[in-house]
Amino acid sequence: MSRTTDRLLLLDGRLVPGTGGSFETINPATEEVLGTAADATAADMDRAIGAARRAFDETGWAADHAFRARCLRQLRDGLRRRAEELREMTIREVGAPRFLTFGAQLDAPVGDLGWFADLVESYAWESDLGRAEPMGMPSHRRVRREAVGVVGAITPWNFPHQINLAKLGPALAAGNTVVLKPAPDTPWCAAVLGEVIAEETDIPAGVVNVVTSSDHGLGAQLTRDPRVDLVSFTGSTATGREVMASAAGTLKRVFLELGGKSAFIVLDDADLRAACSYAAFSGVAHAGQGCAITTRILVPRERYAEAAEITAGTLAKLGAGDPADDRTICGPVISARQRERVEGYLELAVKEGGSFACGGGRPADRDKGFWIEPTLITGLSNEARAAREEIFGPVLVLLPHDGDDDAVRIANDSPYGLSGAVHGGDVERARSVARRLRTGTVSVNGGVWYGADVPFGGYKQSGIGREMGVAGFEEYLETKAIAEGL
Ligand code: NAD
Repeated sequence: MSRTTDRLLLLDGRLVPGTGGSFETINPATEEVLGTAADATAADMDRAIGAARRAFDETGWAADHAFRARCLRQLRDGLRRRAEELREMTIREVGAPRFLTFGAQLDAPVGDLGWFADLVESYAWESDLGRAEPMGMPSHRRVRREAVGVVGAITPWNFPHQINLAKLGPALAAGNTVVLKPAPDTPWCAAVLGEVIAEETDIPAGVVNVVTSSDHGLGAQLTRDPRVDLVSFTGSTATGREVMASAAGTLKRVFLELGGKSAFIVLDDADLRAACSYAAFSGVAHAGQGCAITTRILVPRERYAEAAEITAGTLAKLGAGDPADDRTICGPVISARQRERVEGYLELAVKEGGSFACGGGRPADRDKGFWIEPTLITGLSNEARAAREEIFGPVLVLLPHDGDDDAVRIANDSPYGLSGAVHGGDVERARSVARRLRTGTVSVNGGVWYGADVPFGGYKQSGIGREMGVAGFEEYLETKAIAEGL
C-alpha cells in the first residue's frame, strides 16, 4: 500500500498512486473521513486508455473465450473472499443500508459475474447462414460476433458495485478491455475491484484499468478519446446528454442508463393498505437513491386521503436510520450537495402548492451526516416540477387517478421511461396495465425484475440500450459477416 493514499489506481496491470495525489472519501452517515483514494489526472487517464488499447490490439484476450470465463470466476471468487470487509466498507462509504448489501448493493452483482462466465461458454459466437448464390456467385456465409474494443465505463455512486460489475461483467465476457471511471463520491468501491483483479485473477495487464479521480473531467476525456470504441455510462440524464454529444465527435457507440421518475399504480381493486405500505417501503429504500425507484404513487382519487394516511404512517414508522443497523431501510443521502438538491425540491414542492403528509426536512435528532426524513408530498398535480423531475432522495409524491386509462396516461406523461409498478386484485387486469406502460421494466403485485438474466434499461430519456441479460451482453459485441466464395 502506498504511503500517500489508502487505495490505488489499477493502471496497465499495476496498482499505482495517482499523479494528482489523493482525495478523501467520506461516510455520509457521520461525515467522518474514511481515508483517501488515488486522485488520477488526465495523464493517468491517457495511460489507462493506452494500456486498454494495447491489451485489446496486442493480446489474445478477445479470442480466448475459455480463459475469459475462468478470469470472471476468479474475480467473483476473489470478491467473495473479501465479502465481509466489502460489506462494512460499502455501508460506510455509500451509506447503503446493511440489508441491501445482501442483494443489489454487493452480493447479487458479485454472484452475477458467474452468470456472465457461463454465458461466454454457452453463447453462439458464430452462426452459419449456409450457401447461397447472391448475384449468381456461390458463397458460404457466416456471421460472427466479436468484441467492440476498448470500453470506457463511467459510473455513479448510488449502487457502485452493482453498476461497476454490470459493466465489467458483460464487457469482459464479450472480450473487450475496459477503463472504469467511478464517481468521486465512492472511489473505494471501485478501487477494491482493481486490487482483486491485480492480486487474485489472471486478467492480463491493461485489460481492466480503474481510474479513481476527484475530477469529473476524466469522464469527459473518455468520451472524446479516439482510442475508446464504446462509452457505457450510468448517471444523470443531464450528463448522459453531454456524453452522447461528446462521443459524437469520434462516432463512438454509446450505451446510456439514466434517470427516472417511475410510477407506482394502485388500481381500484388493490388492497390499498398493502399496496401503499409497499410503495412507501420500496420508495425510500437507500434514501430513494435508485434510478428505478417508483417515486410517483398513483392512487384512486376517491381513496386519496386514506392512501395518504397509510403511506405517511408507514414512512414515519420507517424513519431514517443508521445504515449499519440491519433494520434500517432508509439511510443518509450521499453528500451535502445531494442533500441541498433534495431540499431545493422540497422548497419547490411547497411553492407549487404541495404539502408534506410526513417528513419535509432534516431529522431533528442528527447533527452530523447528510440526512433527509422520509417524505410524502400531497396536493400536487403531475404537471408540478417536483412531480416530474427526478429528486433522488427519500421523497415520494402522491397523485390521484380516475381509473386505469387515466393512471396509464399519468404514468406515461413523463420525459422518463425507466420502470414502474402496478398493484391490483385482478392480476390479468394489472398485467394489461403493465403492458401499456412505456418503460423498460415493470413490477406487478410486488414481482422483482432484477437479475443477471433480465435486461434492464430505459425508454425515452431514461437511456439507450440494455444492461444485464443476453441483450445487455450483446451491447458489447460487434457483428461481422464473412462470405467464402465457392
Ligand atoms: P452524474 O451524472 O453527475 O455522474 C455520473 C458519472 O459521470 C460520474 O462518474 C461523473 O464523474 C461522470 N461525469 C460527470 N460529468 C461528466 C461528463 N461531462 N462526461 C463524462 N462523465 C461525466 O450522476 P451522479 O450524481 O453520480 O448519480 C446520480 C444520477 O445517476 C441520478 O440522476 C440517477 O438517476 C442516475 N442513475 C441512473 C442509473 C440507471 O441505471 N439508469 C443508475 C444509477 C444512477
